[in-house]
Amino acid sequence: MKTFTKEEFRELLEKKVRDKRTKTLEETTDKDLFYAIASIIKDSINEASIETKQRYINNKKRQVSYLSMEFLIGRLIESNLINTGFKKVCDEVLADLGRKPRDVYGEEQDAGLGNGGLGRLAACFLDSIASLGYAGHGFGIRYRYGLFEQRIVSGSQIELPDNWLREVYPWETRKIDEAIEVKFGGEADFTVEDNHYQFHYRDQEVVLAVPYDVGIVGYENDVVNTLRLWSAEVPENAVSPEQYKNQLEYMQSVEKISGFLYPDDSTEEGRFLRLKQQYFLVSSTIQTLIRRFKSQYDMPIEQFHEKNVIQINDTHPTFGIPELMRILMDEEGLSWEEAWSITSHTFAYTNHTIMQEALEKWPVEMVKRVSPRIYMIIHEINERFCKQVFDEHEELRDRISELAVISDDVIHMSKLAIVGSYSVNGVAALHSDIIKDYTFHDFYRLTPEKFNNKTNGITHRRWLMGANPGLTDLITDAIGDHWIKSPVELNQLLRYQNDNGFLDRLAEVKLQNKKILQDVIYKKTGIEVNEHSIFDVQVKRLHEYKRQLLNIFHVIHLYNEIKRNPKLKMVPQTFIFGAKAAPSYHLAKEIIRLIHLVGDLVNEDKDVAGRIKVVFLENYNVTLAEYIMPAAEISEQISTASMEASGTGNMKMMMNGAVTLGTMDGANVEIAELVGKENILIFGLSSEEVISYQNEGGYQANDIYQTDDRLKSILDGLKDGRYAKGETFSDIYYRILTNNDPYFILKDFTSYLETHIKAVTLYENKQTWNKMSLVNIAQSGKFSSDRTINEYATDIWKLI
Ligand SMILES: *Cc1c(COP(=O)(O)O)cnc(C)c1O
Repeated sequence: MKTFTKEEFRELLEKKVRDKRTKTLEETTDKDLFYAIASIIKDSINEASIETKQRYINNKKRQVSYLSMEFLIGRLIESNLINTGFKKVCDEVLADLGRKPRDVYGEEQDAGLGNGGLGRLAACFLDSIASLGYAGHGFGIRYRYGLFEQRIVSGSQIELPDNWLREVYPWETRKIDEAIEVKFGGEADFTVEDNHYQFHYRDQEVVLAVPYDVGIVGYENDVVNTLRLWSAEVPENAVSPEQYKNQLEYMQSVEKISGFLYPDDSTEEGRFLRLKQQYFLVSSTIQTLIRRFKSQYDMPIEQFHEKNVIQINDTHPTFGIPELMRILMDEEGLSWEEAWSITSHTFAYTNHTIMQEALEKWPVEMVKRVSPRIYMIIHEINERFCKQVFDEHEELRDRISELAVISDDVIHMSKLAIVGSYSVNGVAALHSDIIKDYTFHDFYRLTPEKFNNKTNGITHRRWLMGANPGLTDLITDAIGDHWIKSPVELNQLLRYQNDNGFLDRLAEVKLQNKKILQDVIYKKTGIEVNEHSIFDVQVKRLHEYKRQLLNIFHVIHLYNEIKRNPKLKMVPQTFIFGAKAAPSYHLAKEIIRLIHLVGDLVNEDKDVAGRIKVVFLENYNVTLAEYIMPAAEISEQISTASMEASGTGNMKMMMNGAVTLGTMDGANVEIAELVGKENILIFGLSSEEVISYQNEGGYQANDIYQTDDRLKSILDGLKDGRYAKGETFSDIYYRILTNNDPYFILKDFTSYLETHIKAVTLYENKQTWNKMSLVNIAQSGKFSSDRTINEYATDIWKLI
């Protein structure tokens, strides 16, 4: 990548501003500067991208395609500046112009093409793949509207469309010449020719998949890979089919396919469109991979899997398996056996959840409507698979109904993904064990060699270097900059555990980050928080299993304590929340409303003053997370044990020096192993205990309600409105007492409270706390997604 002196960069900026914005430097707004800088970077990215592509073609390496319905990439300006090496020069030029870099970079709209952890993981993975120099590309959908923008009105969540493409998106390039036709619906039948089936399709709806490529820049290594996002358009000269009134209606119906990112799939019409989106992604992508393979490699199609790996991020892209089968058989003329051998050596599947209600299932009838031929292939995969189990695995014969991909006219996508993949991985050690021992135990008995673990990670370039420059400088001052290329070397910081001078500097960095967040909080909510209070943070999607309810119950409990004894001494604490709820998830929205009303009560009560505050930051997204993570001190990771597959928010906060207060769930288990039990605050039931209660019974929430006065008061308050300015929350009340508290909130309550008391005591001893914080940073290198991606590359993708 080219390098620039300050003068050169300034000159270039001046020229770009003139060319692109027809202004002089002096006249520019922050937005003008943002677009001009983006354009400078884009020029360099384009050059490096051409060279990277040529290099991959020349060395004919095996390539990975990472397929995901979500890429939660956030802003790219800062991470592109860091990875191209332009950051320092650009910051300086802006400073000379009297501009604040943060404001200029703040002009970029977040690309919020994902819901939460799963989409953010995909984005971190692309950053690591490029930074480690692997040939790997992302494929997703260019949703016209990303995840909704959350507003809170009188405590309740309102969803607004996320119009992220209102202005030009400077990082994308439309490649109309590489568009692909995706064919939906119609009918498929066959004739027998030369002893093999020839399939014929009729009356299909043709949709044009137009690629928009976004360059993914590796860290100072001249690599630029591609994230290809597909957009749905009407093919040129296509006339509207009969079912549409006119051409306009037809166009709108086609463009809907890439219209919205679905924040949940609980409504019927949404579900059908979502299914079409899935097929749209896999069909356009796999057709492209076949095309590229034929043009770039001088090899027969039978060797496709030697040069291609397709990693599917959860089951959403699983229709890629029958789609590859279809192309290999119907278009390339291979036999079933040949096609199956190639396909089942191409796909690798990452599982993200073990919660039964979250495992994806599609009615046969719907899949037939999207593509009858794809359904035929899935049906055949299932027939052959069940027969093979029957013939070759006598010990599993009585489990065939459990193993079957299709049962009761429903397709189980996770089972299809396991059958059609050569690798199945969980995303944290505990989660991968649960998959093998419980969720997919029968499949594990059948093919143990497929199952493996790849603990998630986060890119330290964005989540430490980008978000927390103060800490980055402190670390580099202490141990040099080797850790940037080799993040496990952060453990060199352990040398400073007992260095009070260093610990003071660490605390000073934290305080500065808290002040920045304090400012953000004030601007967004009008709430004044004490920068010396403990910043206790729970930011993540709102879900019952994540137990934001347990957190707010604790706050109500503290409030009650203060009201009972207004002179009570208490270390000041600020409870910070951020969470979007799926629009149709009623209970989740009720929890948001409860947090707000309790917040109002607590923040306005004179008796409470100076002790606790509650802040809910609306519209939690990647950019907001970049302000929150560096300022967090207690990282709330309190899911019901066994239910959080990994979590990555836990890793971001750990890397920024927060101490985890959490259950032994997901990657918390691995955090605990690394930092030792004196540097983490663990509470609650174990995953074995939770699973045992679920399977054997033995827990009665009502018994706790009857005997624990603290909880009785809190729950009764939900019904009589005493903690919410008279507003009531009977659905939450009944969820716990009539449905027997499925997430074990009452069961874990006492242990949670005691652990908070312990946390506050530790915090009061400044140096003890600072040392805990340091150990967490020092041990966080394992959670760089560079480590995760090296493991995928070695064990699954076989790139090295
Ligand atoms: C990291 C991240 C998540 C995932 O958080 P968890 O605590 O792991 O659920 C969700 N949303 C955003 C915006 C993130 O940056």
